[in-house]
This record gives sequence, structure tokens and C-alpha cells, in this order.
Amino acid sequence: MSKRVVQIGVQEVAARVREAREAEREWARRAASERAGVMRGVRAAFLDAAEAIVDATARETGKPRAEAWLGDFIPNVDLFGYWIKEAPRLQRPERVWLNPINFPRKRATIELVPRGVVALITPWNYPVSIPLRTIVPALLAGNAVVWKPSEVAPEVAGLVADTFEKGGLPRGLLTTVMGEGDVGDAVVRAEVDHVVFTGGLATGRLVVRAAAERMTSCSLELGGKDAAIVLDDANLDRAIPGVAWGAFTNAGQNCAGIERVFVTREVSKKFIDGLVAYTATLKSGSDVGALTTDRQFEIVKAHVADAVERGGKVRVGGKPGRGKREFEPTVLTDVARDAKVFTDETFGPVVPVEVVETADEAVRRANEAGYGLTASLWTADEAGAVKRARVLECGVVSVNNHAFTGAVPSLPWTGVKGSGHGITNSKYAFFELTRPKTLLVDRLGAAREPWWFPYGSRAEALGKAMVEVMRHGPSRVPGLLGAFASRWKETE
Ligand code: NAD
Repeated sequence: MSKRVVQIGVQEVAARVREAREAEREWARRAASERAGVMRGVRAAFLDAAEAIVDATARETGKPRAEAWLGDFIPNVDLFGYWIKEAPRLQRPERVWLNPINFPRKRATIELVPRGVVALITPWNYPVSIPLRTIVPALLAGNAVVWKPSEVAPEVAGLVADTFEKGGLPRGLLTTVMGEGDVGDAVVRAEVDHVVFTGGLATGRLVVRAAAERMTSCSLELGGKDAAIVLDDANLDRAIPGVAWGAFTNAGQNCAGIERVFVTREVSKKFIDGLVAYTATLKSGSDVGALTTDRQFEIVKAHVADAVERGGKVRVGGKPGRGKREFEPTVLTDVARDAKVFTDETFGPVVPVEVVETADEAVRRANEAGYGLTASLWTADEAGAVKRARVLECGVVSVNNHAFTGAVPSLPWTGVKGSGHGITNSKYAFFELTRPKTLLVDRLGAAREPWWFPYGSRAEALGKAMVEVMRHGPSRVPGLLGAFASRWKETE
């Protein structure tokens, strides 16, 4: 077990944050290219630790090793590469044009500077990928990170943190504070400059309240209730295995897992029969792993029982599997709309399928959820899908695929409503981990600017002249003022 997997007390958090701030001062002053050089070393150490990280991930979460490779290791090789290239580019100062009539001999630049100490709190379902998608860009931007990993996967967290040390990251820049919710709460309340939280909606509410007391900005990536919409013209040979994967990968413990399917009537029988038959072929242990926690196992059982109580039919699965915390992949039909499987996040291998009359009805039903992370449309009509994608209330829409873009570092991953408003991946995530700093250099050398004291009557006359020129053209304002206002308008 890694030496970093040591629980810490709440009272130790403030000191760790102070150490992180100390380390951050020197790190932020380094050139972005130098920080990228250090991250290349970390990437090499991460590759060296591949087997150990995959083993620990499969052991601590109960997911099949193939899923640990596909979901937790391989995408991060790309992630390091993307950010090592992109971060220095995004941090190049950007020159901004200023109107030379209004602002003569002035030079303005914007630079993305680090926020300082970023607090990161993460869940257990993808215990490598979720932390890295913030740690890597945050460090490259010049921040320090104080990371509270999930208490459910502590060994994985230790191994991930070790790769940063082995790769040559200076001490104090990535601090792992291991513990439960009270330690997470202490991190949010400490002297941090930004909080990135990924986890459940209820915890997210606590985090945002605690952060508000210190006016700390907060980026929240919360749960989901993703819908898949299968239309009459869908290619069922693809839609059936695609929807099954979207619903059952990671045993459904995926923020973007398909938790609701809406299928149009004409194709519904064929689709449902196909999905049921395909689901029956999935192998427990190698295709669909165990649920990670007892709590999750209880929620899944309760959601299925609630659906059945409200008239739902179990078409396949519906009961615990043979292994510990295993639940058979389950397809339900005829479920009441107010059943928990339609309203609450299940986070398990259970999917209700509802038959709808039209594509518009499917979109309406999809938008009824209190979450809005991702959605998918399965159809041969690409133009129609693009139109429907615009009205789906969520952060990511996939057509004839589902949610794999979470593993693509150049595409933003984000949600609406109960799924939170945080952004990971892409330049938009980088904008959350930095702040724009404006630099203005004035080389005018004149004794004073027209807007300095004393104001006199000229300021008012100039204001009026400018409005006249904007509204009616230059001919309406004679004299010097008109000439000035016209030149100002020309250079807009
Ligand atoms: P959780 O909310 O129970 O815990 C998340 C983290 O918060 C853990 O590290 C936990 O110790 C910590 N925590 C608990 N109480 C806290 C408090 N008061 N203050 C600060 N931190 C606290 O979530 P979980 O069960 O670990 O993960 C599952 C949830 O995560 C699901 O809802 C899932 O949808 C969501 N999730 C979202 C995304 C996304 O990108 N939107 C990705 C993965 C998981």
C-alpha cells in the first residue's frame, strides 16, 4: 500500500493548505513550458505504474480489469499529452486591440494566471480519470492542488499521487488529504482559492454552501439521469449493443450512464426484445462488475423493488447476481413515470424503457429529469438529430453513440440542472482553473487624459457628439468635436 494512504485529521487540513500555497508561489513563477517539462516526467511515471494502478482500481471498485484499463488508464495517456501541449499555448499572453483614438499609445494584454490553491474532491467510480482531469491541467496552469480522494478507493489515490512524486513534481504541489466527508468539508472551508467537486447532488449542495461562506468559487460536476432516445429509423444492430453498453458499463455506476430509454412505438417491440436478449448474454464479472459499495447495492435493489411495486415488468435481470454485491443487468418496461428509476439517480445496472409515440414526446420526457448531463439520439436522420440535440437540456449530446466523449480531453464535459455547472476537459475547463489578468501599459506621456480632473464642459459635449455621430452619422456634428467623433467611429 502506498505511503500516502494515511488518513488525516480535520485539524491538519489548514496546515496542508498553507504548505500548498507556499509551494505554489515558486511554481506559478516558472515558465509554462518548464511546468510542461515536469509533467512529461509525471506522464512517464504514470505509464510505469500502469499495471499497479489498474490492479488497484479493479480491486477497490470491483470493476472488470478491462474496464479499469479502458475507463481509468488509457484515456489518461491522451489527457497528459493534450494538456502538456495545450496549457502553455493557452497561457501565452493575448494582445487585445484598443481603439487608438480613445486610447492612444496604450497596450493591453490578457494572461491566464493560476487561481492559487485548488481544492479537489472526487468520487470512487472512476478513481483515476476523474481526479486526473483536474489535477493535470490545474498543475500545468501553475496552481497547487489539495486533493481529497474518495475514501472508498484510497489505494488507487495513493498510487496516482506517487506517480507525481516519482515523476519529479516538486513537494507540496499535490497534497493528498485522505479521509471522509468531514475532511472534504474542512478542505472546502480552508484558505483555498477554488473548489472542484465531483460527486452526488446532495453532497454538492453542502459543498457549495460551505464554499459560499468564504466566497470561494466552486465548480460542481454532479449526478445524472441520462436518456437514450431510439427513433423508428435507428440502426438497431448498433443501437441495441450501444444502449446496453451505455447503461451497464461500470455496472451502471457512471454519472453519464443511460438510466432512461425512450423508444418510438413502431420500432419498440424489436428494440426491447433485442435489448433484453442482448442483456441476457452479458457475463457477470467480465462484462458487468460488482457494485462498489454496500450503499449502492441497497439503492439499486430499492429502485427495482419500487419500480415493480408500481407495475413495472422485469424483462431480464432484476435480482442480485451470484458474486458479492453483484446485481444482474436489468431491463424494465411498463414502469410508472413517478417511479424512482425515472426520477432519482440509480447508479446501477438498471434501465427502464418507455414507449413513446413521437420523437418530440421522447425529447420532452428526456427533459423532465432534474438532471442534465448527457443524452443520446439513435437515428439515421442526422439533420433531424442535430435539431433535436439543440433542445435537449444537457451538456453533451451524442448521436448513435453515448457519452464516451468524457474520455476525450479536447471536448468539454459539463451539465445543467442537478448535474451541476462545472466543466472538465477542453480549454473551457482551463478557464475555470485560471483567471484572466489584464495588463495595461501606457506610453502616451501626455500630462493628462481627457477623462481626468477637472472635467469641465468638454466631457459632456464629447459624450453628446459621440451619441449624435453613432445615431445620425458624422455630418450632424460640425467642428472639431465632430471630426474627433467621426474618427472614433471609423476605428470602431
Ligand atoms: P459523494 O457525493 O458521496 O462523495 C464524493 C466525495 O465527496 C467523496 O470524496 C466524499 O468523501 C466527499 N464528501 C462527502 N461529504 C462531504 C462534504 N460535506 N464536504 C465535502 N466533501 C464531502 O459521491 P460518491 O458516492 O463518491 O460518487 C457518486 C456520485 O458522483 C454520483 O452521483 C455520480 O453521478 C457523481 N459523479 C459525477 C460525475 C460528473 O462528471 N458529473 C462523475 C463521476 C461521478
